Amino acid sequence: MVRVSPRVVVLAGGVGGSKFVLGVREALRRRGMDDTAAALTVVVNTGDDIWLSGVRLQPDVDSITYALAGVNDTARGWGRDGDSERVNHELQEWGAGWPWFTLGDLDLGTHLARTGWLRDGLSPTQVLERMSQRWPLGARLLPMTDAEVDTVVVLEDGSRLHFQEWWTRHRAALAPARFENPGIEVAAPAPGVVEAIASADVVLIAPSNPVVSIGPVLAVPVIRDVVATTAAPVVGISPIIGGKVVRGMADVCLTAIGVETSAAAVAAHYGSRETGGVLDAWLLAEEDDALAPEVAGGGIRSLVTPLWMTDAAASAAIAETALVAAGV
Ligand code: GDP
Ligand code: CA
Repeated sequence: MVRVSPRVVVLAGGVGGSKFVLGVREALRRRGMDDTAAALTVVVNTGDDIWLSGVRLQPDVDSITYALAGVNDTARGWGRDGDSERVNHELQEWGAGWPWFTLGDLDLGTHLARTGWLRDGLSPTQVLERMSQRWPLGARLLPMTDAEVDTVVVLEDGSRLHFQEWWTRHRAALAPARFENPGIEVAAPAPGVVEAIASADVVLIAPSNPVVSIGPVLAVPVIRDVVATTAAPVVGISPIIGGKVVRGMADVCLTAIGVETSAAAVAAHYGSRETGGVLDAWLLAEEDDALAPEVAGGGIRSLVTPLWMTDAAASAAIAETALVAAGV
Protein backbone atom coordinates (compact mmCIF):
# COMPACT_ATOMS: atom_id res chain seq x y z
CA MET A 1 0.00 0.00 0.00
CA VAL A 2 1.33 3.42 -0.88
CA ARG A 3 0.68 5.70 2.02
CA VAL A 4 0.27 9.35 1.16
CA SER A 5 1.65 11.66 3.82
CA PRO A 6 -0.91 14.08 5.17
CA ARG A 7 0.31 17.66 5.13
CA VAL A 8 -0.07 18.87 8.67
CA VAL A 9 0.20 22.46 9.89
CA VAL A 10 0.33 23.21 13.61
CA LEU A 11 -0.16 26.69 15.09
CA ALA A 12 1.83 26.74 18.31
CA GLY A 13 3.29 28.67 21.24
CA GLY A 14 6.17 27.54 23.43
CA VAL A 15 6.08 24.82 26.07
CA GLY A 16 2.55 23.47 25.53
CA GLY A 17 3.09 23.89 21.81
CA SER A 18 6.35 21.98 21.78
CA LYS A 19 4.97 19.04 23.77
CA PHE A 20 2.16 18.79 21.25
CA VAL A 21 4.43 19.16 18.20
CA LEU A 22 6.60 16.31 19.54
CA GLY A 23 3.39 14.27 19.68
CA VAL A 24 2.44 15.12 16.10
CA ARG A 25 5.90 14.14 14.86
CA GLU A 26 5.66 10.87 16.81
CA ALA A 27 2.15 10.16 15.47
CA LEU A 28 3.41 10.64 11.90
CA ARG A 29 6.37 8.34 12.58
CA ARG A 30 4.00 5.71 13.94
CA ARG A 31 2.15 5.92 10.64
CA GLY A 32 5.38 4.84 8.99
CA MET A 33 6.48 8.25 7.77
CA ASP A 34 10.25 8.68 7.68
CA ASP A 35 10.47 12.20 6.34
CA THR A 36 8.19 13.98 8.79
CA ALA A 37 9.83 17.32 7.93
CA ALA A 38 8.16 17.17 4.52
CA ALA A 39 4.76 16.63 6.12
CA LEU A 40 4.82 18.77 9.24
CA THR A 41 4.95 22.58 9.29
CA VAL A 42 4.79 24.48 12.57
CA VAL A 43 3.77 28.13 12.52
CA VAL A 44 5.23 29.56 15.72
CA ASN A 45 4.14 32.53 17.80
CA THR A 46 6.65 35.38 17.77
CA GLY A 47 4.67 37.67 20.07
CA ASP A 48 6.95 36.58 22.94
CA ASP A 49 10.05 37.88 21.15
CA ILE A 50 12.14 40.61 22.73
CA TRP A 51 15.38 42.56 22.37
CA LEU A 52 17.39 42.21 25.58
CA SER A 53 21.04 43.16 26.17
CA GLY A 54 21.39 43.70 22.45
CA VAL A 55 20.23 40.26 21.38
CA ARG A 56 16.99 39.04 19.87
CA LEU A 57 15.19 36.42 21.93
CA GLN A 58 12.50 34.19 20.42
CA PRO A 59 11.33 32.12 23.38
CA ASP A 60 8.58 30.12 21.67
CA VAL A 61 10.65 29.46 18.54
CA ASP A 62 13.53 28.25 20.74
CA SER A 63 11.30 26.09 22.97
CA ILE A 64 10.03 24.24 19.91
CA THR A 65 13.46 23.99 18.28
CA TYR A 66 15.11 22.66 21.45
CA ALA A 67 12.27 20.20 22.12
CA LEU A 68 12.33 18.77 18.59
CA ALA A 69 16.14 18.55 18.79
CA GLY A 70 15.91 16.78 22.16
CA VAL A 71 18.18 19.33 23.86
CA ASN A 72 15.55 21.10 25.97
CA ASP A 73 15.45 21.17 29.76
CA THR A 74 12.40 19.01 30.40
CA ALA A 75 12.44 19.49 34.19
CA ARG A 76 12.45 23.29 34.10
CA GLY A 77 10.25 23.41 31.02
CA TRP A 78 12.28 25.97 29.06
CA GLY A 79 15.84 26.55 27.86
CA ARG A 80 18.66 24.10 27.16
CA ASP A 81 19.34 20.96 29.11
CA GLY A 82 22.42 21.24 31.34
CA ASP A 83 22.77 24.98 30.79
CA SER A 84 24.76 27.29 33.08
CA GLU A 85 24.32 30.99 33.83
CA ARG A 86 27.81 32.44 33.96
CA VAL A 87 27.18 35.11 31.34
CA ASN A 88 23.86 36.01 32.91
CA HIS A 89 25.62 36.51 36.25
CA GLU A 90 28.19 38.74 34.58
CA LEU A 91 25.44 40.79 32.89
CA GLN A 92 23.90 41.34 36.31
CA GLU A 93 27.23 42.49 37.71
CA TRP A 94 27.25 45.07 34.93
CA GLY A 95 23.68 46.05 35.72
CA ALA A 96 22.75 45.05 32.17
CA GLY A 97 19.69 43.18 31.05
CA TRP A 98 16.97 42.16 33.46
CA PRO A 99 17.86 40.57 36.81
CA TRP A 100 14.59 38.64 36.83
CA PHE A 101 15.08 37.23 33.34
CA THR A 102 17.51 34.33 33.19
CA LEU A 103 19.54 33.81 30.05
CA GLY A 104 21.39 30.50 29.94
CA ASP A 105 24.88 30.41 28.45
CA LEU A 106 23.98 27.92 25.71
CA ASP A 107 20.75 29.80 25.12
CA LEU A 108 22.75 33.02 24.72
CA GLY A 109 24.77 31.26 22.02
CA THR A 110 21.51 30.81 20.12
CA HIS A 111 20.56 34.45 20.59
CA LEU A 112 23.99 35.69 19.49
CA ALA A 113 23.90 33.51 16.37
CA ARG A 114 20.40 34.71 15.54
CA THR A 115 21.20 38.37 16.16
CA GLY A 116 24.36 38.17 14.04
CA TRP A 117 22.42 36.73 11.12
CA LEU A 118 19.66 39.31 11.51
CA ARG A 119 22.32 42.03 11.47
CA ASP A 120 23.75 40.44 8.31
CA GLY A 121 20.39 41.05 6.69
CA LEU A 122 18.69 37.67 6.94
CA SER A 123 14.97 37.72 7.71
CA PRO A 124 13.66 35.91 10.80
CA THR A 125 12.32 33.20 8.47
CA GLN A 126 15.77 32.75 6.90
CA VAL A 127 17.41 32.72 10.33
CA LEU A 128 15.03 30.03 11.55
CA GLU A 129 15.63 28.01 8.40
CA ARG A 130 19.35 28.18 9.07
CA MET A 131 18.92 27.31 12.73
CA SER A 132 16.72 24.35 11.79
CA GLN A 133 19.64 22.74 9.97
CA ARG A 134 21.71 22.09 13.08
CA TRP A 135 19.59 19.18 14.29
CA PRO A 136 17.25 16.81 12.44
CA LEU A 137 14.07 18.39 13.76
CA GLY A 138 11.64 16.36 11.68
CA ALA A 139 9.51 19.44 11.09
CA ARG A 140 9.64 22.70 9.20
CA LEU A 141 9.43 25.70 11.52
CA LEU A 142 8.12 29.04 10.34
CA PRO A 143 7.73 32.19 12.41
CA MET A 144 4.20 33.58 12.09
CA THR A 145 5.62 36.79 10.61
CA ASP A 146 8.95 38.46 9.90
CA ALA A 147 7.63 41.71 11.38
CA GLU A 148 8.49 42.64 14.97
CA VAL A 149 5.15 42.63 16.74
CA ASP A 150 6.20 41.93 20.35
CA THR A 151 3.27 41.57 22.74
CA VAL A 152 2.61 44.56 24.99
CA VAL A 153 0.52 44.32 28.16
CA VAL A 154 -1.60 47.38 28.83
CA LEU A 155 -2.59 47.78 32.49
CA GLU A 156 -5.75 49.41 33.86
CA ASP A 157 -3.88 52.70 34.50
CA GLY A 158 -2.77 52.79 30.88
CA SER A 159 0.87 51.88 31.57
CA ARG A 160 2.46 49.52 29.08
CA LEU A 161 5.07 46.83 29.54
CA HIS A 162 6.58 44.15 27.38
CA PHE A 163 4.87 40.80 27.80
CA GLN A 164 8.08 39.21 29.13
CA GLU A 165 8.40 41.80 31.91
CA TRP A 166 4.77 41.27 32.90
CA TRP A 167 5.09 37.48 32.76
CA THR A 168 8.49 36.86 34.35
CA ARG A 169 9.04 39.86 36.61
CA HIS A 170 5.49 40.33 37.85
CA ARG A 171 4.40 36.70 37.41
CA ALA A 172 1.26 37.99 35.67
CA ALA A 173 0.14 39.52 38.99
CA LEU A 174 -0.65 42.99 37.57
CA ALA A 175 -4.19 42.89 36.22
CA PRO A 176 -4.04 43.48 32.47
CA ALA A 177 -6.62 45.58 30.66
CA ARG A 178 -5.59 44.18 27.29
CA PHE A 179 -2.81 42.72 25.17
CA GLU A 180 -1.57 44.46 22.05
CA ASN A 181 0.82 43.58 19.24
CA PRO A 182 1.62 47.00 17.74
CA GLY A 183 1.77 46.78 13.96
CA ILE A 184 0.25 43.32 13.69
CA GLU A 185 -2.76 44.61 11.76
CA VAL A 186 -0.45 45.33 8.83
CA ALA A 187 2.03 42.48 9.42
CA ALA A 188 2.39 40.01 6.58
CA PRO A 189 2.59 36.28 7.30
CA ALA A 190 6.12 34.91 7.01
CA PRO A 191 6.89 33.47 3.55
CA GLY A 192 5.46 29.97 3.26
CA VAL A 193 2.82 30.30 5.98
CA VAL A 194 -0.15 30.99 3.72
CA GLU A 195 0.88 28.33 1.20
CA ALA A 196 1.31 25.74 3.96
CA ILE A 197 -2.11 26.42 5.48
CA ALA A 198 -3.89 26.69 2.13
CA SER A 199 -2.47 23.39 0.87
CA ALA A 200 -2.66 21.49 4.18
CA ASP A 201 -4.72 18.36 4.76
CA VAL A 202 -5.26 19.38 8.35
CA VAL A 203 -4.58 22.44 10.50
CA LEU A 204 -4.10 21.81 14.21
CA ILE A 205 -4.30 24.49 16.88
CA ALA A 206 -1.98 23.31 19.67
CA PRO A 207 -3.05 23.37 23.33
CA SER A 208 -1.13 26.60 23.78
CA ASN A 209 -2.08 29.80 25.58
CA PRO A 210 -5.10 31.00 23.54
CA VAL A 211 -4.43 34.67 24.29
CA VAL A 212 -0.69 35.31 24.11
CA SER A 213 0.47 32.31 22.03
CA ILE A 214 -2.29 31.46 19.53
CA GLY A 215 -3.81 34.96 19.81
CA PRO A 216 -0.92 36.74 18.04
CA VAL A 217 -0.69 34.06 15.32
CA LEU A 218 -4.38 34.52 14.48
CA ALA A 219 -4.07 38.30 14.81
CA VAL A 220 -1.93 38.39 11.65
CA PRO A 221 -4.90 39.22 9.40
CA VAL A 222 -3.92 37.10 6.42
CA ILE A 223 -3.22 34.08 8.64
CA ARG A 224 -6.62 34.34 10.25
CA ASP A 225 -8.25 34.58 6.81
CA VAL A 226 -6.46 31.54 5.42
CA VAL A 227 -7.21 29.46 8.53
CA ALA A 228 -10.85 30.48 8.20
CA THR A 229 -11.04 29.56 4.52
CA THR A 230 -8.62 26.67 3.93
CA ALA A 231 -10.17 23.48 2.55
CA ALA A 232 -8.41 21.57 5.34
CA PRO A 233 -10.32 20.78 8.53
CA VAL A 234 -9.15 22.82 11.52
CA VAL A 235 -8.93 20.92 14.79
CA GLY A 236 -8.05 22.53 18.11
CA ILE A 237 -6.86 20.86 21.30
CA SER A 238 -8.02 22.33 24.60
CA PRO A 239 -5.28 23.79 26.79
CA ILE A 240 -7.81 23.79 29.64
CA ILE A 241 -8.49 20.60 31.57
CA GLY A 242 -11.21 20.53 34.21
CA GLY A 243 -11.41 24.32 34.36
CA LYS A 244 -7.66 24.67 34.98
CA VAL A 245 -4.77 25.75 32.77
CA VAL A 246 -2.63 22.69 33.61
CA ARG A 247 0.45 24.86 34.18
CA GLY A 248 1.36 28.50 33.83
CA MET A 249 -0.81 31.58 34.12
CA ALA A 250 -2.95 31.48 31.00
CA ASP A 251 -6.06 31.93 33.15
CA VAL A 252 -5.02 35.53 33.91
CA CYS A 253 -4.76 36.19 30.17
CA LEU A 254 -8.17 34.65 29.51
CA THR A 255 -9.79 36.66 32.31
CA ALA A 256 -8.29 39.85 30.88
CA ILE A 257 -9.99 39.31 27.53
CA GLY A 258 -13.26 38.28 29.20
CA VAL A 259 -13.06 34.55 28.52
CA GLU A 260 -13.83 32.08 31.29
CA THR A 261 -11.13 29.48 32.06
CA SER A 262 -13.17 26.63 30.65
CA ALA A 263 -12.56 24.37 27.67
CA ALA A 264 -15.95 25.31 26.22
CA ALA A 265 -15.36 29.05 26.62
CA VAL A 266 -12.00 28.80 24.83
CA ALA A 267 -13.65 26.86 21.99
CA ALA A 268 -16.31 29.59 21.75
CA HIS A 269 -13.56 32.22 21.78
CA TYR A 270 -11.93 30.56 18.75
CA GLY A 271 -15.39 30.10 17.25
CA SER A 272 -16.84 27.81 14.60
CA ARG A 273 -15.71 28.31 11.01
CA GLU A 274 -19.37 28.23 10.07
CA THR A 275 -19.84 31.50 11.90
CA GLY A 276 -16.61 33.33 11.13
CA GLY A 277 -14.34 31.55 13.61
CA VAL A 278 -11.43 29.18 13.08
CA LEU A 279 -12.52 25.75 14.39
CA ASP A 280 -14.25 22.73 12.91
CA ALA A 281 -13.51 20.37 15.79
CA TRP A 282 -12.26 20.63 19.38
CA LEU A 283 -10.62 17.99 21.51
CA LEU A 284 -11.97 18.08 25.06
CA ALA A 285 -10.41 16.34 28.05
CA GLU A 286 -12.29 13.47 29.70
CA GLU A 287 -12.67 15.71 32.75
CA ASP A 288 -14.67 18.10 30.56
CA ASP A 289 -17.02 15.50 29.12
CA ALA A 290 -20.03 17.46 30.38
CA LEU A 291 -19.03 20.47 28.21
CA ALA A 292 -19.44 18.54 24.93
CA PRO A 293 -23.04 19.72 24.28
CA GLU A 294 -22.03 23.35 24.91
CA VAL A 295 -19.19 23.06 22.37
CA ALA A 296 -21.49 21.33 19.86
CA GLY A 297 -24.10 24.06 20.42
CA GLY A 298 -21.53 26.54 19.12
CA GLY A 299 -21.27 24.64 15.85
CA ILE A 300 -17.97 22.92 16.73
CA ARG A 301 -17.66 19.12 16.68
CA SER A 302 -16.27 17.93 20.01
CA LEU A 303 -14.31 14.79 20.79
CA VAL A 304 -13.57 13.66 24.32
CA THR A 305 -10.15 12.10 24.90
CA PRO A 306 -7.33 12.17 27.49
CA LEU A 307 -5.46 15.48 27.07
CA TRP A 308 -2.57 15.19 29.54
CA MET A 309 0.69 15.46 27.59
CA THR A 310 2.65 13.53 30.22
CA ASP A 311 5.10 12.01 27.73
CA ALA A 312 5.67 11.67 23.99
CA ALA A 313 3.37 8.65 23.79
CA ALA A 314 0.50 10.54 25.45
CA SER A 315 1.06 13.55 23.16
CA ALA A 316 1.22 11.23 20.13
CA ALA A 317 -2.11 9.67 21.09
CA ILE A 318 -3.68 13.15 21.28
CA ALA A 319 -2.18 14.08 17.90
CA GLU A 320 -3.41 10.84 16.33
CA THR A 321 -6.92 11.50 17.64
CA ALA A 322 -6.77 14.99 16.12
CA LEU A 323 -5.60 13.61 12.75
CA VAL A 324 -8.37 11.01 12.72
CA ALA A 325 -10.90 13.69 13.70
CA ALA A 326 -9.79 15.59 10.61
CA GLY A 327 -10.26 12.51 8.46
CA VAL A 328 -6.57 12.08 7.62
P1 GDP B 1 4.30 28.96 26.54
O1 GDP B 1 4.44 29.79 25.29
O2 GDP B 1 5.59 28.39 27.00
O3 GDP B 1 3.48 29.62 27.59
O4 GDP B 1 3.50 27.69 26.08
P2 GDP B 1 2.18 27.53 25.25
O5 GDP B 1 1.45 28.80 25.06
O6 GDP B 1 2.50 26.75 24.03
O7 GDP B 1 1.37 26.57 26.18
C1 GDP B 1 0.99 26.92 27.49
C2 GDP B 1 -0.32 26.22 27.77
O8 GDP B 1 -0.19 24.82 27.53
C3 GDP B 1 -0.72 26.28 29.23
O9 GDP B 1 -1.43 27.47 29.44
C4 GDP B 1 -1.60 25.04 29.40
O10 GDP B 1 -2.94 25.45 29.32
C5 GDP B 1 -1.24 24.17 28.22
N1 GDP B 1 -0.73 22.87 28.60
C6 GDP B 1 0.44 22.59 29.22
N2 GDP B 1 0.55 21.27 29.47
C7 GDP B 1 -0.58 20.69 28.96
C8 GDP B 1 -1.06 19.35 28.90
O11 GDP B 1 -0.44 18.38 29.36
N3 GDP B 1 -2.28 19.15 28.29
C9 GDP B 1 -3.01 20.19 27.78
N4 GDP B 1 -4.18 19.90 27.19
N5 GDP B 1 -2.59 21.47 27.82
C10 GDP B 1 -1.40 21.71 28.41
CA1 CA C 1 5.29 31.72 24.99
